[in-house]
Amino acid sequence: MERIKRNPYEMAVKQLEDAAEVLKLDRGVVDYLKVPDRVLQVKVPVKMDDGSIKVFTGFRSQHCGVRGPYKGGIRYHPEVTLEEVIALSMWMTWKCAVVNIPYGGGKGGIICDPKKMSEGELERLTRRYTTAILPVIGPDRDIPAPDVYTNPQTMAWIMDTYSNVLGYTIPGIVTGKPVEIGGSEGRTASTGRGTAIAAREAAKKLGIEIKNAKVVIQGFGNVGYHAAKILSEWGAKIIAVSDSKGGIYSDDGLDVDRVAEHKSYTGSVKGAEKCEEISNEKLLELECDILIPAALEEVITEKNADRINAKIISEGANGPTTPEADRILEERGIFVVPDILANAGGVVVSYFEWVQDLNRYFWGEERVNSELEKVLVRSFKEVYTIKEDYDVSSRDAAMILALKRVVRAFELRGLWPQ
Ligand code: GLU
Repeated sequence: MERIKRNPYEMAVKQLEDAAEVLKLDRGVVDYLKVPDRVLQVKVPVKMDDGSIKVFTGFRSQHCGVRGPYKGGIRYHPEVTLEEVIALSMWMTWKCAVVNIPYGGGKGGIICDPKKMSEGELERLTRRYTTAILPVIGPDRDIPAPDVYTNPQTMAWIMDTYSNVLGYTIPGIVTGKPVEIGGSEGRTASTGRGTAIAAREAAKKLGIEIKNAKVVIQGFGNVGYHAAKILSEWGAKIIAVSDSKGGIYSDDGLDVDRVAEHKSYTGSVKGAEKCEEISNEKLLELECDILIPAALEEVITEKNADRINAKIISEGANGPTTPEADRILEERGIFVVPDILANAGGVVVSYFEWVQDLNRYFWGEERVNSELEKVLVRSFKEVYTIKEDYDVSSRDAAMILALKRVVRAFELRGLWPQ
């Protein structure tokens, strides 16, 4: 799918400015929050399998640390930019504040094409990047996690590299690790589970039954797959799914496990079942109850917002909707559960994982899922109350809630040195 990207940083700043206006925040506070606390750009030289040396560029952005250590994923993607990483770190600040976990926002990325790299090359890339950002990360300082095209194995390499340099095992340095080395039960499914919970709560508000609700999912990676799986367990009908290569559509509903198995063999959902093929563009416009964009930024824009045919959008991806599209969706009465709430399940269980690591005491999956459920249902309620009180969109409401918490922490701590 061709993407002509607006600078995601501009998008993040616009969202901040809009919420700041409602709250009548001081210009100085807005200026403070518009820019990250710290950004590190690093050179990552890697010995490739053919013996050559290839030099990659990596980033780590730490947006705002007033509520706690920086927290956020690391993405590997050929189109990663510094502006994108900064925007994503800003969204992490709001995300952690909306669900009220004690973190600030961080994000990292490496410009690379992981699909064209071997396992060994990816390991060397990850370990070298970890040593390059080592001075700014730490279990009390900045805690990375998986994001687009990184996974538990990537986190295991980061944990091992960091621990080896420091000389002892430090599981709390990253979250999203394999369970065998200090990861949490339920972490892998948690972002998709949260996106499903957010959609379910929105459906309740609109009087839509989850049973037999028609669901369309763009992106069938970790988030899209688990959201599909959980919603189908609750009786919803997953009528279309897609990945970067294209999508499939069946009004009778797809078998999520069969599609996942097909993708694991062939690399795509395409051809998984005998049904219609559909492009990513057309998939977004299908008539459905719940649309879940679970891939990359800026897929719902002013160009297609008036053709979106869903009652609810639960944003599994970060930044899938532009501010212009937001306005159109709001006018059309489409209920958008914004990314900073709809995909917060991942970082919430990351927080549980970190707490378990620091305590050396591990929870069962049932406890993780029920605590996650509590946090998300409470946060949804809080956002909804603000939406009604201020008569604003859910995105503005979530931003207002987050901003209030961040600004309060900023005021309580004050400036130092002055
Ligand atoms: N990368 C995920 C996100 O965007 C998870 C971050 C985390 O768990 O720290 O929310």
